[in-house]
Amino acid sequence: MKRFVEGEDRSQGTLFPERLDDYIADDNPVRVIDAFVEELDLADLGFERVQPQATGRPGYHPASLLKIYVYGYLNRIQSSRRLERETQRNVEMMWLTGRLMPDFKTIADFRKDNGKAIRRVCREFIDLCRSMEMFTQAIVAIDGSKFKAVNSKDRNDTKASMKRRIARVEQHIERYLSLLDDVDKDEPSVRDTKVPELEDKIAALKERMQQLKKRERDVLAHPDQQISETDPDSRLMKKGGMGSQVSYNVQTAVDTRHKLIVAHDVTNAAVDRNQLFPLAGLTQHTLQQDEIKVLADRGYYKGRAIKDCYDAGIQVLVPKILTSGSKAAGRFGKQDFHYEEAADQYRCPAGEILQRRFNTVEAGNVLHVYFAPVSVCRNCALKSQCMTSAQRRIRRWEHEDLLDTMEQELRNTPDAMSVRSQTVEHPFGTLKAWMGSTHFLTRRLKNVRTEMSLHVLAYNLRRMMSIMGVVPLMEAIRA
Ligand code: SF4
Repeated sequence: MKRFVEGEDRSQGTLFPERLDDYIADDNPVRVIDAFVEELDLADLGFERVQPQATGRPGYHPASLLKIYVYGYLNRIQSSRRLERETQRNVEMMWLTGRLMPDFKTIADFRKDNGKAIRRVCREFIDLCRSMEMFTQAIVAIDGSKFKAVNSKDRNDTKASMKRRIARVEQHIERYLSLLDDVDKDEPSVRDTKVPELEDKIAALKERMQQLKKRERDVLAHPDQQISETDPDSRLMKKGGMGSQVSYNVQTAVDTRHKLIVAHDVTNAAVDRNQLFPLAGLTQHTLQQDEIKVLADRGYYKGRAIKDCYDAGIQVLVPKILTSGSKAAGRFGKQDFHYEEAADQYRCPAGEILQRRFNTVEAGNVLHVYFAPVSVCRNCALKSQCMTSAQRRIRRWEHEDLLDTMEQELRNTPDAMSVRSQTVEHPFGTLKAWMGSTHFLTRRLKNVRTEMSLHVLAYNLRRMMSIMGVVPLMEAIRA
């Protein structure tokens, strides 16, 4: 009696169904990819070779190559060589392309040559989600995360790393020079062998030092004072309290309702501070809403950017960053001084009034300066906790009332920051898991942006399939 499930005989004539379509169930996600790409106006999106050339060998239609990429990114197959292999052995891929099997170079060139158009495809899908009213609440959470670039840390030089390397070589030279001094105490026979040996080592190190000095000059002459050899656009960045790696900074705006990525960008800026307004503006444009609400962490706190957002109809909620040197030194910080709006004055911890005295301009911002008379501070019992100079001065940005209003709004919505983290952690965690240990496979910012757009498209496609189901989504795409 047979006790195993038996496979079919390989030599059997009717092993495969006659139609490839029979292998693909009606609710197979690959059908969504096919429907979505077929509905796109590829010429309008800027794809090359939408019209066949009159002469020469026929090329692949961009729709076929785009389907290969969308399928690949949806199934964690991102490299062109692996995609080539999949076209030859994967039944879903055969169904999707009609058994086309382009070589890896054709596949890779398509991604390289159609970067802008691929990024527009990602936006097309977001527009589709918007038309399906997936973003009606217009509340998004913005965050950035560092994604590892192709460039290894060994092939990245910064001002600090050059200093370290030069100091190391200097130490070695010092050590060999002192060994050379000690050789004089040895027997002449030992000396005769050791001296040339040490002199050779010192000469080699001095040559190395010349190379390092030249390299250091190059690094310092670079606008960012660092050079990445493999991917010149990538930069050394801190990664969440666990050292540093050569990365790109991926910025996303994620809808709080369905966790769909509404807008994204890739930059090589190591910090998030300057990314708030550009990304919030892009989100507002994508959502086509006059007023939207944006939640971001304190890394985005920058007065000018917050003001720009409010002026554009974007309500942002960003916790204040406390950078007071006085507080760090154990003295009163600015937050210990209470602003009295009606009188336009500050009340200090001793209850004294700091009046507005004059204005100053710092980094293009007009600041109002407040202080109490010197005689008041001189005789104050809290003086040692307040200042080290003769008088404590408080500076207030001319638009700081806006920041105060935002702070009050944040106090009124205590769950805003937990909503923010729950919203953005989901897509970043998912994307990084899909991308593997080295997140990006391509080099240069423009190619990395294309790669990220494909990941975001795959993420949003998968989200929409789980929210709506494959068949209803396909019907909505075709509607
Ligand atoms: S030192 Fe001056 S500003 Fe500071 S608490 Fe005393 S009175 Fe107020």
